[in-house]
Amino acid sequence: MPVTVKDMIERLDYDDLLKIKKDLDDGGIHMNRLVKEKIKQHLLMHRRICVVCQNEIEPYSTNNYTLLFGPEDFKKKATFCALDCLQYFLNQMKEKKEGMKIEKETPE
Ligand SMILES: [Zn+2]
Repeated sequence: MPVTVKDMIERLDYDDLLKIKKDLDDGGIHMNRLVKEKIKQHLLMHRRICVVCQNEIEPYSTNNYTLLFGPEDFKKKATFCALDCLQYFLNQMKEKKEGMKIEKETPE
């Protein structure tokens, strides 16, 4: 089961809580760095697996594709092991968008 931030804080001992409190009071530089590091790790892991077929990505294969999408301040990244997977993903996205549009246009 994934650990929530609340669980994590419950488990910390008093000294660690004081350290975090001090860090947050100082602008949270240390916490920010820890969180950024972890996000970087997640992105690296993500980059190695195709989001469609879950195949491992061959780092030097010329069949790899990476798609960046979403708003500038919250860009999402998806990596694909082949053009077919990218195509499938785009079709899914398109269907989802069109589905949403139809739902919106249907009067209640
Ligand atoms: Zn794939």
